[in-house]
Amino acid sequence: MTRETQTTADAGGSEPCPGCGLVLPISDGPTHAYFGSSASCWALFGELLAREFNNPEYFAAHQLTVDTYAVQHPGVPERRTTQSVGLHLMTLCLVFEQGADPGDGPRLHKRMVNRPNFHWLEPPRLSGRMTVADVLPAGDAQEHSALVRVWARDVWDAWGVHHQVVRGWIDKSLV
Ligand SMILES: [Zn+2]
Repeated sequence: MTRETQTTADAGGSEPCPGCGLVLPISDGPTHAYFGSSASCWALFGELLAREFNNPEYFAAHQLTVDTYAVQHPGVPERRTTQSVGLHLMTLCLVFEQGADPGDGPRLHKRMVNRPNFHWLEPPRLSGRMTVADVLPAGDAQEHSALVRVWARDVWDAWGVHHQVVRGWIDKSLV
């Protein structure tokens, strides 16, 4: 009996996230309007965000958390996703190549949002990388920040084929 139940659960019970590839139980819960994530992955991201919103020490990593999740779940080509992926990649580029403080992210976004003429970047393979599930086990704020940074770096590296384009957008958008 137990084995049967197990088999049924395995057969119809899980799916890979279309963004990060994380295999999780199928859920009919809510997802983001245009991020390409499964409902279960979106729920894990919600847990991570709740932790950041409930604790100022965790919140220090917030901008990087959002940037990373967004570009690991690019969704399908349309105006909003094109702009979202472009903007969040620019922030990651500023952090990892120009030493920007992720805490300045919102301010940087305000300066950048209407400047570059974004076009859709064909997403690279984004699965097989770190995911939101690798950050959740962090035991304290310091570990959380460290894991978010490693995750962000991993996902930024995955977009390597488009780094040059992103650098070009930054050159054009920052005065
Ligand atoms: Zn995902």
